[in-house]
Amino acid sequence: MRIVAAQLSHETNVFSAVRTDMAAFEASTILRGDEIAHAEAGTNSAFGGFLAASDRLGIELIPLLSVWATPSGLVDGATLRALIDEITTGLRRAEPLDGVLLALHGAMVSELDRDADVLILESIREVVGNERPLVSTLDLHANISPRMVDAATLLIGYDTYPHVDMAARAEEAAERIVQLVRGEIHPAAALVKPPMLPTSQRMTTDRAPMGELIALAHEREAEPGMIGVTVAGGFPPADVEEAGLSVLAYSDGEVTPALKAAETIADRAWELRASFLGGVSTFEEAARILARPPLGGKPVVLVDIGDNPWTGGPGDSVELLRFLLDQGVQNAAIALVADPVAVARCVDAGPGTTIRIDLGAKTDRLHGESIVIDATVKLIADGRYVNAGPMMAGVAVDLGPTARIRTGDIDVLVTSRAESPIDLNVFRAFGIEPTSKSVIGLKGKGHFRAAFEPIASQVVLVEGAGITGADLSRLPFRHLDRPIWPLDPDTDW
Ligand SMILES: [Zn+2]
Repeated sequence: MRIVAAQLSHETNVFSAVRTDMAAFEASTILRGDEIAHAEAGTNSAFGGFLAASDRLGIELIPLLSVWATPSGLVDGATLRALIDEITTGLRRAEPLDGVLLALHGAMVSELDRDADVLILESIREVVGNERPLVSTLDLHANISPRMVDAATLLIGYDTYPHVDMAARAEEAAERIVQLVRGEIHPAAALVKPPMLPTSQRMTTDRAPMGELIALAHEREAEPGMIGVTVAGGFPPADVEEAGLSVLAYSDGEVTPALKAAETIADRAWELRASFLGGVSTFEEAARILARPPLGGKPVVLVDIGDNPWTGGPGDSVELLRFLLDQGVQNAAIALVADPVAVARCVDAGPGTTIRIDLGAKTDRLHGESIVIDATVKLIADGRYVNAGPMMAGVAVDLGPTARIRTGDIDVLVTSRAESPIDLNVFRAFGIEPTSKSVIGLKGKGHFRAAFEPIASQVVLVEGAGITGADLSRLPFRHLDRPIWPLDPDTDW
């Protein structure tokens, strides 16, 4: 069985001023052919799963392209066209082939097509036709559209947030494509979308409400005649017509079981909608928590959700640093402030020197003001490390040239690129032991929890200025299908 596999994934925040072009993909990850197995075999990633399952199932896997970029603004049209052409050319060269495995995000927006994942799926369909299976994994934050469902044979979303099942869902996709090629299953799809647009600060799947919805999905999946159920929370700042929560179910042959499952779970999501709100403290509340001694000597993990790079924030807000300096906190560390200009100044000055720098807030006017500080340069590094996990374990990270600076009693990682700090190695790679800190400042929303919750006395979310938080009233939406809850609180369903 010859199966071609590709990953082309981006979570697009259309309110970001950072255009997503080829350089943006190159700065994150572009791997081709044999490079893919070399870099991604054995990792907790989509290709990690495709490769492991292929070995196990005896699939001859032909890896074409593995590309993704840190969430950012609209995907440049020529860039997306070139990447799709690379996949379709590779497919023609790989003939004869039996099917295609993809890893898409499900919330990509491009100038070419606002539903960019559909453009990818339909372009591949044009090459392989309607008879051969096309199976894709999706992120838990996908905005699933009817066109996406029509174009794919089977879509399989992550069941976890933090996404610790990327490889597991990719293995499931590979198992399913084998059954599809052999004609053993015939998926019939039902997509139900209640008019709700939850943000993800309370979407982590180890607790309610999302944990309950995923548990319901697993119950339904286990019923006879069912193939799979995905509950996707959606990604509001893609600002597409289909943004929001989706329940996608597949049954074998007859669609009725899938429709019943999708409707039941969507009804429950709608009932639970209010419990997706909240979960964010004010800075005043955070200040009171910081004033108390930390429980058990473990750090308080304070997370600014307003400038989360993995929701499309530029990562250059310094609101958290300003707040912690104002509070006079001791023994703190922050990951991260993306500011290549400041890094260059630190490199010029060299380790051991103290310089006055104007840090952060250079990308746009939406992420607060910069801050002028006297900082001691403690360390200069290339910004590369490998995740310890559990999320994306084994995956290499490249923050670009990075300076560890110290101001007050706070260590700050100043990086050339923005990534969300989701792994303890983001600190350890630069000589900071996170478990020894009293306060850890992060930019994130939910993924950080996989590694940081176990070492924290308490996790506190705050929302600084920015385009990635829980307050959707900050964003000038233009394309959403309205009315939609919670933007339109009286929405009926
Ligand atoms: Zn996600």
